[in-house]
Amino acid sequence: MTSTTASAPEALGGKPSATPLIEMRGIFKSFLGNEVLHGVDLVVRAGEVHALVGENGAGKSTMMKILAGVYRPDGGQILLDGEPVSFEHPLAAQAAGVTTVFQEFNLLADRTVAQNVFLGREPSNKGIVDSAKMNSDTTALLKELGMESISARTRVGSLSVAEQQIVEIVKALSQDARIISMDEPTAALSDVEVRLLYQIVRQLQARGVAVLYVSHRLKEIFDLCSRITVMKDGSLVRSFDTDTTSPDELVRTMVGREFSGYFPPIDPQTQLGPVRLQIRGGGNSQVNKIDLSVRGGEIVALAGLQGSGRTEIAHGLFGIEPFTRGEVFIDGKTSTVKSPRSAVRAGLALVTEDRKTEGLALRQSVFANARLVLDAVRPFGSAKDVKRIPGLLSSLELSARGLGQEVRYLSGGNQQKVVLAKWLVTDPKVIILDEPTRGIDVGAKRAVYDAMRVLTKAGIAILMISSELPEVIGMADRIVVLHEGEIAGELAAGSDEESIMTLATGHAPVGQLANGVQR
Ligand code: ADP
Ligand code: MG
Repeated sequence: MTSTTASAPEALGGKPSATPLIEMRGIFKSFLGNEVLHGVDLVVRAGEVHALVGENGAGKSTMMKILAGVYRPDGGQILLDGEPVSFEHPLAAQAAGVTTVFQEFNLLADRTVAQNVFLGREPSNKGIVDSAKMNSDTTALLKELGMESISARTRVGSLSVAEQQIVEIVKALSQDARIISMDEPTAALSDVEVRLLYQIVRQLQARGVAVLYVSHRLKEIFDLCSRITVMKDGSLVRSFDTDTTSPDELVRTMVGREFSGYFPPIDPQTQLGPVRLQIRGGGNSQVNKIDLSVRGGEIVALAGLQGSGRTEIAHGLFGIEPFTRGEVFIDGKTSTVKSPRSAVRAGLALVTEDRKTEGLALRQSVFANARLVLDAVRPFGSAKDVKRIPGLLSSLELSARGLGQEVRYLSGGNQQKVVLAKWLVTDPKVIILDEPTRGIDVGAKRAVYDAMRVLTKAGIAILMISSELPEVIGMADRIVVLHEGEIAGELAAGSDEESIMTLATGHAPVGQLANGVQR
């Protein structure tokens, strides 16, 4: 595809039709003497949606930051329309049409959508900021993207994560973006929001804007992207045309080993025991009429759209926002949990959605992290339990340099294992996992799934909240679907994505589930 915006001198200098929009050649980068990119090549053409994939730590984000002018490469070249460029600063990259939507947005929550889109380059009329123009230009861009539902005058803080991402994209477009890089754009989105993003990416493509897309979700990659570049350990492994490869081949290329069966089967020695967790008529300000039980050795998934009340059930159980109605039984005993501390004493564990802020002290060692919960709930007499930590970590197959290694240097999957160990040492009866594999790569996901099977085999009950339907289907014994704070229905293991989505979107009348168990 050709670029229509090449200026005359550029057009004279080369063959625009054959020239890629962006070419990164032999990029090297070290941090503190540690080389993390070893001469990586990447070619992106105009109007192409290009996936950049690889396990955690492969160097994807570093490549993107170099392209965006956040980091300077130590070696190599970046060509834009075939001409060498060097971005000293993100603003220089933006000015050249090379923009990035990072995982952490750069938006101001208390300003409007339009104010954010034009932040730092507000149009003015006789020295006064021209709000009317800002609003109308922003509205026009939103409309072009088919996003009329967002108003230019809304405060950004009141938007959902997906909508904020759209604001970032609009901001990029208003700066005449020619390529937009997105680093794991769907990591924090629900399935409905993911579809919204698909729609936008296709619009961008239709406008001739190239998209460089980092994602761990194979389905997305195959749905959206025409080219795929795989990185591993700071090097390029291979670039593919999407239609010449398969998910299996892609995963093999990423992890560099055979990958048979994405979801581990249930260990035949796993037995379903008595009910360990039961909620009867549970409710708080967010959820209502929650009836739910999980048996020992069982995995029950809570599915539903963002905001449907899944995390709120976890918070109710765990005493973060305690249930104000109904009853909870743990191992048949009434349990009145009023705080996380009492939840732990009652035998509950909660692995939160956000490992980095809630679950782990990243600058502390594996060992220090593994004993965090224990020290908090049993400050005296935990010595015997502390001794179990190394054994627990090895049963989870933690791969680390040692128990003294700082957690921030571990891969996402290994960080998640440290979180699990931290809870396991308190001998929980029920573990609540909130988005257990969010933001971690395929190999690491498999490690978390294996760990879940280890836990159920030991008789623990697992309540898993997940937005990833394949994971819900692949791992759960039963699937409870929420809609607007209530249970919309329950489905048996092996139900399909469509049945779950139908319930989640509130379309199926209770009692008429083709595929499900009646409530
Ligand atoms: P990916 O995005 O593929 O997960 P990254 O580009 O974030 O990988 O990281 C590649 C490697 O570079 C990792 O080993 C990471 O620890 C290291 N790294 C990334 N950023 C920094 C930094 N600012 N300082 C030191 N090391 C870093
Ligand atoms: Mg990254």
